[in-house]
Amino acid sequence: MGMKVGFGYDSHRFTESRPLILGGVVIPENPGLQGHSDGDALSHAIADAILGAAGAGDLGSYFPSEDPKWKDCDSLLILKEIIGIIGDAGLKIGNVDVTIVCEKPRISPHREVIIQSLSRTMRIEQKRLSIKSKSNDQMGWIGSGVGMAVYAVTLLETM
Ligand code: MG
Repeated sequence: MGMKVGFGYDSHRFTESRPLILGGVVIPENPGLQGHSDGDALSHAIADAILGAAGAGDLGSYFPSEDPKWKDCDSLLILKEIIGIIGDAGLKIGNVDVTIVCEKPRISPHREVIIQSLSRTMRIEQKRLSIKSKSNDQMGWIGSGVGMAVYAVTLLETM
């Protein structure tokens, strides 16, 4: 069995003008994330990690932010397309490990629902998904609450 590892990163600025969506789940009572799509930095980081592992370019080349087609779109659709792309290339997800870095909100109360949402979208077992979170100890732009960063690693296996 062949294995390929990939790394993805995304960051978005907080904005009061939209809801916070992570992994397709609305996290209430928090500012949302700016972006051309729905700003779902978690889904974007995972999608980029998958593309990286497949050696298939980056998210921006498939879903350019100038394209009105993807304006305000549900990022789970983007993730689904990426899963289709690697499936066509004979690859499947081994596992995904993520770290979300932000001062607010606390992610842990939402972790289970986010994992359920992503496992449905990506058609993988929940045990293949790990979502971790931490604060930036009040340092820098994350620490002052300007935005959120997400780091993702994935292992792909040949089918
Ligand atoms: Mg993004």
